[in-house]
Amino acid sequence: MIKANIERIFKEIPGYVKVVAATKQRSPEQILEAINAGIRIVGENYVREAEKKIEIIGRKVYWHLIGHLQKNKVKKAIKIFDLIQTLDSIELAVLLDKECRRMNKTIFAMVEVNIAKEPQKTGVLPEDLIEFVKKVSQLENIKLVGLMTMGPYLDNLEDLRPYFREAKTLFERIKELWKDTLDWKYLSMGMSSSYKIAIEEGANMVRLGTVIFGPR
Ligand SMILES: *Cc1c(COP(=O)(O)O)cnc(C)c1O
Repeated sequence: MIKANIERIFKEIPGYVKVVAATKQRSPEQILEAINAGIRIVGENYVREAEKKIEIIGRKVYWHLIGHLQKNKVKKAIKIFDLIQTLDSIELAVLLDKECRRMNKTIFAMVEVNIAKEPQKTGVLPEDLIEFVKKVSQLENIKLVGLMTMGPYLDNLEDLRPYFREAKTLFERIKELWKDTLDWKYLSMGMSSSYKIAIEEGANMVRLGTVIFGPR
């Protein structure tokens, strides 16, 4: 079933769109099945959970952190993840940079934007985004490569379009502003229910759980 789901998804989306398999609560066996079907990026929400799975599966795929990163997990996160999609505060960025320097590493990261300004959600507010990128781009051990957003939960999926559109506008603005210094390339938005709309509105990376693995 996992294999058939992935093949169907690959057929229906454009080739430039990167699929991140969102694998929270999925077993290593399920994840390996997805990898065998062509998944190259695995997104985990928790450092501990990812650590256990990476021990079993290894580094034959890229591991992305797609959940909020707690400050006390920063060192571990640097060791195990290839990319942090959820950079959401200056304090976290400064800490990441500092620990990376200590470990003589650079880490790829994306800025999480709280596009609907939901108070219960993490993420940089849209109006603070440019200033945020300005600051983080000066940190030598973090390489910013794009923008990630969750989008609000809405009954009518069509109502998501304006939020995705705004994220795309911000993404393009940053790309233009830092065209000489940043390799700014990924716009990660859209989940199982919303990835088609997200791609139509400009996403080039989607994070899919349920449509690949079935209900959690
Ligand atoms: C779980 C999760 C997803 C995927 O959700 P589905 O609805 O199962 O596709 C995407 N992004 C993040 C950050 C998640 O935690």
